[in-house]
Amino acid sequence: MNLTSLTIGRARDGLRRKAFKARELAEAYIKAMAAARPLNAYLVETPDRALEAAAQTDARLQKGEALPLDGVPVAVKDLFCTEGVETTAASKILGGFVPPYESTVTANLWRNGALMLGKTNLDEFAMGSATITGARGPTENPWRRRGDNRPLVPGGSSGGSAAAVAARAALAATGTDTGGSIRQPASFCGIVGLKPTYGRCSRWGIIAFASSLDQAGPMTRDVRDAAIMLQAMAGHDPRDSTSAPVPVPDFEKAVGQSIKGLRIGIPKEYRLDGMPKEIEVLWQRGIDWIKAAGATPVEISLKLTRYALATYYIIAPAEASSNLARYDGVRFGLRVPGETLDAMYENTRGQGFGAEVRRRVLIGTYVLSAGYYDAYYLKAQKIRTLIARDFAEAYRNCDAILTPTAPSAAFAIGEKMDDPIAMYLNDVFTVPVNLAGLPGISVPAGLSQDGLPLGLQVIGKAFDEETVLRVAAVLEDAAKFDATPALATGLA
Ligand code: GLN
Repeated sequence: MNLTSLTIGRARDGLRRKAFKARELAEAYIKAMAAARPLNAYLVETPDRALEAAAQTDARLQKGEALPLDGVPVAVKDLFCTEGVETTAASKILGGFVPPYESTVTANLWRNGALMLGKTNLDEFAMGSATITGARGPTENPWRRRGDNRPLVPGGSSGGSAAAVAARAALAATGTDTGGSIRQPASFCGIVGLKPTYGRCSRWGIIAFASSLDQAGPMTRDVRDAAIMLQAMAGHDPRDSTSAPVPVPDFEKAVGQSIKGLRIGIPKEYRLDGMPKEIEVLWQRGIDWIKAAGATPVEISLKLTRYALATYYIIAPAEASSNLARYDGVRFGLRVPGETLDAMYENTRGQGFGAEVRRRVLIGTYVLSAGYYDAYYLKAQKIRTLIARDFAEAYRNCDAILTPTAPSAAFAIGEKMDDPIAMYLNDVFTVPVNLAGLPGISVPAGLSQDGLPLGLQVIGKAFDEETVLRVAAVLEDAAKFDATPALATGLA
């Protein structure tokens, strides 16, 4: 049996049946992780830690006391602080930072029996859509275009996590999503990525990018696995005042439930001018699938969609500029000395941050400055409220919303890189969901003409991940997506 081709659901069953040991599962992934090094998906590998945890799992299994995620080898985006393991957000400024604490979400995973394989690459401080801005170089997508061996981006910013799961070099991974960073790389790498409702998972111990938008979520092989992972990750945390004190339902139960009678909104404003034909076709296929499953597609209007990107690219940098003020060379990571204290700050920040992060800090500082606050930041906040209202209005007439995840398939490393605006356009379908704080999932739904995965997105009402998972599972069943990437090291 190839252990790295199992889903969490099937690995869990195999472990409990004693078909294999947690140690064997961990060893298979450690091997796949090493073989995947050319992809640069992992920044840090923690094989010893994984094996130690696997031994504990095997001891529990022996006693018949299995935990929900017992023995599941997980990759962790390097934005989650992990106690005793270097955490850098792929930034030079955090080089050598070893947190003395564990993020709540990862602590929840370990408490449920999962084991950590390592920390995955991302765009510096999660700012990007391609996993190309990190201090330790880009991550490669394990997929290749048909007949073309050029390396492609895995999407971003959780591109290391997406590539690791797609390459079978992790059974599942954590990601974070501020404007699409779980869903878009999931779409580019042919896996499932779920961004929960804002407040569903604690942000405590996750390096902050834009605090009112950031949300952690699972990246997995299938929809059931996303439900299983989210179950363990979610929950109220008194250490994060924005984490919601609401019960965590049984997410896995939702998977496989009928969608008969549901109304699925199709936002007309998402039909972009110049959108590639194959994205249109994919979307229509998705509409046909949910119809065949007994749901009713209804046209809805999200009329402020065209302002969402502009709004996001004011609010996110504003919050980032404030969150990143703490990296001053005094408390964490890099310090570049200078003649005076101010010179030390300047040297440290000037050399510690990469170009994209500096661009965001500049934009953020500008839109928050006294003269421009009203014109930009305040205006953006007002439009954000109206965008959330657009969704609330639409949900009076539907139960969930179906859209493409991204306006294209993965692009080559090098493409779009010198044009920040073209890069920002990647997020056109995902960003509104963060602005409104809603849950969204990307499900692999087909291949592009040149053989690359394309995802469909299901957006839900706040705290209704169950409906999102139900609809996503129907799409998954209909799509029967079983293609595997050229560089799936775990399957080699
Ligand atoms: N691509 C978006 C950005 O660059 C979103 C990133 C994210 O979700 N972390 O800001």
